[in-house]
Amino acid sequence: MDSSNSKEVEVILKVVGIIVAGGVGKRVFGDLAAEGKGDLPKQFLTLGEKPVLTHTIDKFEKCELIDEIILVVPEDYMGYCSQTIVDKHSFKKVKKIVCGGKERQDSVYLGLKACSNNTDIVAIHDGVRPLIAPEKISDLIKSCYQKKAVILAIPVKDTIKRVEGGSVITTLDREKLWLIQTPQVFQYKLILDAYEKANEDGFSGTDDSVLVERLGHEVAIIEGEYENIKITTAEDFAMAEAFLEKKKKRGANS
Ligand code: C5P
Repeated sequence: MDSSNSKEVEVILKVVGIIVAGGVGKRVFGDLAAEGKGDLPKQFLTLGEKPVLTHTIDKFEKCELIDEIILVVPEDYMGYCSQTIVDKHSFKKVKKIVCGGKERQDSVYLGLKACSNNTDIVAIHDGVRPLIAPEKISDLIKSCYQKKAVILAIPVKDTIKRVEGGSVITTLDREKLWLIQTPQVFQYKLILDAYEKANEDGFSGTDDSVLVERLGHEVAIIEGEYENIKITTAEDFAMAEAFLEKKKKRGANS
């Protein structure tokens, strides 16, 4: 699609970012808590000068193709999130803060249900991936105008083997293996149908696009960046700090 066409579509389509930050896991951050970073779920820990989730929302605010943001957070942190994150940083696009569910899949579904009926496209993103580039969110959205389901992925660097009971069963063909990240961007109706079907069937997946794949719908990929890590462990946190520092030195947005 040339840029003049995409401009036309931008005006017509309503695009909502759903940032899921409803997890409450703290255990891997015991060491960081001891360093004075506080005993909070990882999305609220301070990275550089602000909470991880603040960095993430900031990237969506800066993406011009995102019209609105829905935040999904743990019930006990809804007030904290509203005051310490959204109001404090004057985020304009955050229209709703909704309560998360038991698993990530439940949280995403609650976010999808909170979208208004005139939503055309949703960009679903993990709150704990603060290093996403706004340009990548735009690339995914533009591709979604035609493809309807587009995800971010990076080629694997290591060899991957299937292992059972401590022994190798087989070595997978690395050329065909990709690591999947978020954002994952979908036509709203397609992903809502996929979630409703998964709920009906009791199917649970480890990402959003697998729910679309099982409907037989094509899912396209766009190559992402290694920096867009998901902060899961204390090591990831240290890596995110290093990436952030590198960006600052380059003078990029942090
Ligand atoms: O569980 P996982 O590490 O894959 O979490 C990825 C994202 O999903 C995190 O931002 C986390 O806060 C969010 N999540 C959620 N609701 C849950 C569990 C995880 O929104 N019940």
